[in-house]
Amino acid sequence: MRLTCCRSFYLTKTGMKKILLVLGIVVLALAAVVVVNTLRFPTATQSKSEPLPALPDSAVQHFQQALQLPTISWGLDKPIDTAAFRGFNQFLQTAYPRISSQLSRQAFGEFSYLYHWKGSDSTLPPIVLMGHYDVVPVEAVAEKMWRQKPFSGALVGDTVWGRGAVDDKGAVIAILESVENLLRNGFVPKRSLYLCFGHDEEIGGTRGASKIAAWMKAQNIKAHFVLDEGGMIKVDEKIASQPLGVIGIQEKGYASYKLQVELPGGHSSQPAPETAIDILAKALAKLREKPTPANMPEATQEFLHATATASNSFATRMAVANQWLLGSVLNSQLSKDRQTSAMIRTTLVPTIVDAGVKDNVIPTVATAVVNSRIIPGETPETVKEYIRKTINDDRVQISGYDENWWAPSGKTNTNGVAYKAVTGSLKKVIDNPVPAPYLVIGATDSRYFRPISSEVMNFSASTFMEGYHGIDERLPVSEYRRMIAFMTHLIKDSQ
Ligand SMILES: [Zn+2]
Repeated sequence: MRLTCCRSFYLTKTGMKKILLVLGIVVLALAAVVVVNTLRFPTATQSKSEPLPALPDSAVQHFQQALQLPTISWGLDKPIDTAAFRGFNQFLQTAYPRISSQLSRQAFGEFSYLYHWKGSDSTLPPIVLMGHYDVVPVEAVAEKMWRQKPFSGALVGDTVWGRGAVDDKGAVIAILESVENLLRNGFVPKRSLYLCFGHDEEIGGTRGASKIAAWMKAQNIKAHFVLDEGGMIKVDEKIASQPLGVIGIQEKGYASYKLQVELPGGHSSQPAPETAIDILAKALAKLREKPTPANMPEATQEFLHATATASNSFATRMAVANQWLLGSVLNSQLSKDRQTSAMIRTTLVPTIVDAGVKDNVIPTVATAVVNSRIIPGETPETVKEYIRKTINDDRVQISGYDENWWAPSGKTNTNGVAYKAVTGSLKKVIDNPVPAPYLVIGATDSRYFRPISSEVMNFSASTFMEGYHGIDERLPVSEYRRMIAFMTHLIKDSQ
C-alpha cells in the first residue's frame, strides 16, 4: 500500500538547508543579544572613604569588659545567670555615664533596654538602632579548642576575643561608644533616636525586643528606619572585585510543621510490611529528595544584580544580565551552595523525629517536626500545601507545630532615603563599597519592628564574621573602629 497522506511534508535538500540557515541565524542573533546585554551591564562605581577617627583606649576596654560578662541565653525554659545580666547593667552605667544621665531608659523583660535620645524636632520620625547582648553558650567540649578563653575579653595584638564579639556585642558596644562620644561633643540630634538592646535574641527575643516593639507600636511610634544585625561588608575577590556592603532588606518567614503517622504497632518479631516509622521515613525522604522549587524573590534579584556589577567573571555577568534566557542555569548554579540556595527558595528540613519506647515494640505513633524558612511570595499555608502534595500519603497527618511562626517580612525600599543613609555612611568607612541588598535567611529581632517601620535593615560595618556561634569568636579592633565610625556617620547623616 502506498502512503500518500504525508507527501506534502517531504522536505527537499534545499528545504532542509533553509531550515538550518534560519536556525543558525536565530542562534547567532541570540548569542549577539546575550553578549550585548553582558557588555552593557553596569559596572560598580569607585569611591574614596574618609579616614577612620582614632579610638580612645577606653573604647577597647569597654568592649573587653562587655565580653567578660557571660550573658548567655541557654534556652527558653532554662534560667539565666542573673548576676551576669545585672553586671551588664552595671557596666552600662559605669562605662557610659552620659548616656546613663542624659537619655531616658526603660527596661523590658527585666534586662532588655530601650534608651530614648530626644531630638530637637519632635515632628521627625525617630531612628531605631538595635542589637542584642545575650550570647549563645560555649559547649564544654569546644571550650578547650578556643585559642583564648571565650569569656576572657582578651586583647591579643589587634584582636579582641570572646563569645559575642561578632554576634552581637560588637554592634551593641559600637552604638554605645558612638552615642557617648557624640554626647561628649555636645551633638544634639534633630531626629530622636531609640537604642534598643535585647537580652534574649538567641532564644527568640520574645521577652525583650518583641515587647519593646509592641510598646513602640502602642505609642504610635513610626520609625524613620530600624537598623539591626544581620549584614556585613563582604570582601572576597572570588565573588566581587570590590567590597560588598551586604545589607538585609527583607527576612524570610518561619514555620514548623508536625508530621504524624498512626498505625497499630505490635511485636517486633513479626512486623507488618509497613510500620508507622516506615511511612514517616518515606514521607521525610520525599521532602528531602529534591529541593523545593526555586522562586527568586526581588531582594535576591537585587543582590545578584549588585554583586554582578562588581564581578570580574564574564560568565556571572552574562548569567545575571540575561536571566530571560539563562535563568534556569543561574538557578541551578545558586542551588549548588546551601546559602545561595536558601536565598531563592523555601527550605524544609526535619529537625525532630520521635517514635518508639522499647527495642522490641513497633510503635503505634511516629512523629517528626519539619522546620521551614519561607521565601517571600509564599506563606505558611502554601508551604503546608506543598508538603501535603509532595508526601501524597493521607496516612501522614500534617499540622502546624506551634504558635511560633511568621510570614516573610515586607521589603525595605532600596531607593528610599533610609537605605541611602546606610549606603552613604558605608561609603565613608571603606573604599569602593558596592551596596548589595539581600534577603536575610535567618531570623533577627528586627522582624518585630516591621509594624513600626517599613524601612528595616540589617547591617554591621565589619568585614570580619568568623567564629560566631562557633569557636574562636573574635573581632579585630580595626573592624570595631570601623563599626563605631559607621554608626557616628549614620546618626549624623540621617538627621
Ligand atoms: Zn545575633
